Amino acid sequence: MSYLVFARKWRPQSFDEVLAQDHVTVTLKNAIQSGRIGHSYLFAGPRGVGKTTTARILAKALNCEQGPTAEPCQECDACLSITRGSYLDVLEIDGASNRGIDEIRDLREKARYATSAGRYKIYIIDEVHMLTTEAFNALLKILEEPPSGVIFVFATTQPRKVPATILSRCQRFDFRRIPASVMTEYIHSAAEKEGISIDSNSLALICRASGGSLRDALSIMDQLVSFAGKEISSDQVSDFLGVVENDLLASLSEAVLLGKQARALGIVANAMDEGYGVRELVESMLHYLRKLLMVAAGAEKGLEAVSEGELELLRRTSGMVSDVTVLNVLRIFSGALSEIRRGGLARVVLESAVMSGAKLSQALELEEMPEVSTRAVSEASGESEPVVQPPDRKEKAPEEEGPGERTDEGKNEPGSTRKEEEEVSRKVFDLFDAIPRDRS
Ligand SMILES: [Zn+2]
Repeated sequence: MSYLVFARKWRPQSFDEVLAQDHVTVTLKNAIQSGRIGHSYLFAGPRGVGKTTTARILAKALNCEQGPTAEPCQECDACLSITRGSYLDVLEIDGASNRGIDEIRDLREKARYATSAGRYKIYIIDEVHMLTTEAFNALLKILEEPPSGVIFVFATTQPRKVPATILSRCQRFDFRRIPASVMTEYIHSAAEKEGISIDSNSLALICRASGGSLRDALSIMDQLVSFAGKEISSDQVSDFLGVVENDLLASLSEAVLLGKQARALGIVANAMDEGYGVRELVESMLHYLRKLLMVAAGAEKGLEAVSEGELELLRRTSGMVSDVTVLNVLRIFSGALSEIRRGGLARVVLESAVMSGAKLSQALELEEMPEVSTRAVSEASGESEPVVQPPDRKEKAPEEEGPGERTDEGKNEPGSTRKEEEEVSRKVFDLFDAIPRDRS
């Protein structure tokens, strides 16, 4: 099979192909067209959203034999070797592993020499915030008197750790997270062009597993193609990614949050029978509960790579309980994960988490939302599968954003003041940071 690696082939090569960063690429194109090119740029933003890709495209735009041009030809020697990563005047330095003063001094020496072939010598320093203070000082000296024809592009996921003296000498561009819908569409069309068949559910799973990084999503596609060939089913994607289906997570969360412990334990037992790993289930639950909490806190826009179907499930579940309950259950599962990591008997830990979660939810809901918990309890003791509708007062219009909009609910939920909700989201972000990512 003549198959060129997805990750290389589908990585954006021109400004127009960069996903969801028009505010950056349009400005850069205009600057190139009008010949106003800066000496140093800072590209800030989450990982995998196009910072180094854009830096390379900028290098290409400046050094293309037809250029400088906002639309590099992609065919000349300069364009081709920049794409391959073998162009002598584009130097990529990983700030994390070359963080000392010697490296920066060395860079300063080399920056003095004329370019080998191109018009501009371009230094791309990735993860620049990792440099040591001394290295930053040395870098500052270069930026104070930049050698002509030398351009620096600093990329960072943590701009707050870059000293103000450096920041003030850079033109700063903030890259945004790529919306899941944009990324899914891109990968879908790339897959189509490669003759790969894959459904939208699978694409959503891939985007979710990529954590919003296009680079990761493309490399997952590569691995999937070698794993499953060109007909990719969502079962294969789940198998491959080791992810637990959303339906399972939704029903388990609902059972726990509504205090139905018997049902919840049954779901766990079924999942184990089907071959899910305990730790995998706990981790997936943590990710799911975190998303639930974001939806409950009215912060849906902060979610990445969530399909419409999943969002619907999340809205349904979050409509049934208070965010405080979700937060507490999230804590229980987070504790369970630590215990499993410390070597606790995994299945026992999971089952106790499920039970504690259910009991706590029952208690909290009784305390906080009498009408819901009455129903929850009656369902728990009751008969058949409930068709659960979210109570009206918790329904939110999708365009509503920010926790502040929920003031009308204040009297029903004394715990849901804006401040507390902010606190809740802060805590959940902290918790989320503590969850290991399998594939990154
Ligand atoms: Zn060219």
